[in-house]
Amino acid sequence: MGPNEKYLSAMSQPDVEFKAGLAVGELRYTHCHQCGRATFYPRVVCPACGSANVELRPSEGNGVVYSSSAITSRDADPYSVTLVDLPEGFRMLSSVQGIRAEDVTIGMAVRLSFDTDANGDPRAVFVPEVEK
Ligand SMILES: [Zn+2]
Repeated sequence: MGPNEKYLSAMSQPDVEFKAGLAVGELRYTHCHQCGRATFYPRVVCPACGSANVELRPSEGNGVVYSSSAITSRDADPYSVTLVDLPEGFRMLSSVQGIRAEDVTIGMAVRLSFDTDANGDPRAVFVPEVEK
């Protein structure tokens, strides 16, 4: 298998590549070489311009909270459902952990982290960026 074949087989299954990224501590998105847009989740074809000249890249993981809601239920502690903007140019739905859900504020700097979902699979979450 040449490098091109390997690349193509990987990109034919972006969801598989995305999960493989999580397993090694990477939040992967696709960067389009044609128009420069970032797409999340990774896609085989750029939804902005239709180009297949896209590349998987790992995010640096330095996010900013765009919006957040604290979800409360009878059976669990409150948790946040948060839209996070990444500097590479995409926005993702995630959760900010490590602080009370109601203390997550718009514009807060957050850092990529990982935990596991109900099935034990890794998932990308965020924690407050520690002041330096
Ligand atoms: Zn494009």
